[in-house]
Amino acid sequence: MGDRSSLRVDGARLWQSLMQMAQIGATAKGGCNRQALTDEDRAGRDLFVAWCEQLGCDVSVDAIGNIFARRSGRDDSLPPVLAGSHLDTQPTGGKFDGVYGVLAGLEVLRTLDAAQVVTEAPFEVAVWTNEEGSRFNPAMIGSGVWSGVMDLDEVYAATDKSGKTMGGELERIGYRGDLPARARPLRAAFEVHIEQGPILEQQELQIGVLSGIQGLRWYDLIIEGDACHAGPTPMESRRDPFMAAAPIMSDCYRLAAAHAPWGRATFGDIRAEPGSRNTVPERLVINVDLRHPDARQLDQMDREFRELVERECERCRLGFEVNEIWHMPVTEFAPECVQAVRQATDMLGYSNMDMVSGAGHDSLYIANVAPTGMIFVPCENGISHNEIENAKSEDLEAGCNVLLHAMLAMDGRPQVQ
Ligand SMILES: [Zn+2]
Repeated sequence: MGDRSSLRVDGARLWQSLMQMAQIGATAKGGCNRQALTDEDRAGRDLFVAWCEQLGCDVSVDAIGNIFARRSGRDDSLPPVLAGSHLDTQPTGGKFDGVYGVLAGLEVLRTLDAAQVVTEAPFEVAVWTNEEGSRFNPAMIGSGVWSGVMDLDEVYAATDKSGKTMGGELERIGYRGDLPARARPLRAAFEVHIEQGPILEQQELQIGVLSGIQGLRWYDLIIEGDACHAGPTPMESRRDPFMAAAPIMSDCYRLAAAHAPWGRATFGDIRAEPGSRNTVPERLVINVDLRHPDARQLDQMDREFRELVERECERCRLGFEVNEIWHMPVTEFAPECVQAVRQATDMLGYSNMDMVSGAGHDSLYIANVAPTGMIFVPCENGISHNEIENAKSEDLEAGCNVLLHAMLAMDGRPQVQ
């Protein structure tokens, strides 16, 4: 069987599979529109399943449409080592987001097959349903249900814009499977993904070794004053919510800078009521998004944000409410999986850096129930969720080799503690 450390994936075969998958739902601008549970999604799933069956894998589908392709090991009672991501895309999506993680997993299985490697544990590739959330809300439903974060019946009832339900569409495309959509023991789960940001490319590095996924807190900040005429009312007698909002926003940018390089503050939307050009608004509703990959620093940002809102609103004699509408905790990946990715990267000699993910991924939920790790590769100009999304074949090959060796490192019996 030879030395496993000399195994390498076939980068050309991986690229060819990516390009073949990209023909399904191909858009005029070179991207993909393969939204969850559409006919295109079904065709993409069918192609993946056909490829796995050619390899002799057992393919199963669970009740939320997650697909698992299993290559047997020497002892199939052992918990599997899994690679997974998603095949669905944004309406104007690219050829790599998600798809790469699935087809890199398939390329690992093809490599093991070609070299006739028998692993100890079974190796699996997972396709998680509706990661993007563009057709059915929320995002990451397949991994969310599987890991117990979301309720199956609730997400079955989720509707798209035309009123079609997720349960009905799963049924229609033939991917409402009989396997319970419930976590089972995994030895490890890995996801390789394009970075969807500019850092690796700017640093001219090939691999990102992920330690986790950024946490975030979403708030509706409401500031209340009095409406009055923009002309006759002297500035000093106004109760104008913007007089507090302006310093609050600049202080939030300072807050993000104080928690650099990973702190983030974003105001995605502001609504002024009544919303009239020559009237001081009586009420502002400001969407605030704070992020940090370190749980303690994110908590600290939360405290400082609340303090500065209180300070500025009291100074301006304004009423306020800070309504936290979502807290996605920081995800820290399993040290043994992070270590497996780092060692594989070093063994292969690829340039790399430690990073955290700024975006959510299926691994966020999988990490709740299984030891999980992630690998990033650069993408052109950091652009994703766009038809021009692009990545270099040699980087995709490198990430896939890291995936292969990280998975091999986790093969075997779990260590007894
Ligand atoms: Zn993705």
